[in-house]
Amino acid sequence: MMAKKTVKTSAKEKAKESGGAMSKRLAERFRKLLLSQMGELMGKAEGTVDDLVTDNENFPDLTDRASAETDLNFGLRVRDRERKLIIKIKEALKRIDDGTFGICEVCGEPIDHKRLEARPVTTLCIDCKIEQEREEKMRGE
Ligand SMILES: [Zn+2]
Repeated sequence: MMAKKTVKTSAKEKAKESGGAMSKRLAERFRKLLLSQMGELMGKAEGTVDDLVTDNENFPDLTDRASAETDLNFGLRVRDRERKLIIKIKEALKRIDDGTFGICEVCGEPIDHKRLEARPVTTLCIDCKIEQEREEKMRGE
C-alpha cells in the first residue's frame, strides 16, 4: 500500500535525507540511457532538416517561416519535439549530477524505476502524473 503523502518536502531536501534517490550505479545506467537517447536525437535532427540552421537560438522565428510551407511545417514540428526532448534530457542529466534524479518534483517520492526506464526524462511519479493530467483535462488543455 502507498503511504499517504502528507509532508511536503522539497525534492532536493528529500534526496539529501535519503542520500540520493538511487544508487550511483543505477544513476550511471540512466545517464548512459539518456546520453544514448540524446545522441540518437541529435543524429536524427541533423539528417531531417539539413537546409535549416541547427542552432537552437534560431528557433523562435521558425514558426513564421514554417507557415509558408506545410511540408516544412510538419518537419519542424517533429524537430521542435526533438529539441524539447533534448532539453529535457539535459535537465535529467543535471538532476543525475545533483542527486535529485528519479525523485518526483511534486511529492518528493522516488519515481518507479520501471517508469524511469521507459521515460528517463520524467520528473513526476505516476500518481502525480495522473493528477496533473486530470487537472489539465479539467482546465481544458
Ligand atoms: Zn509524485
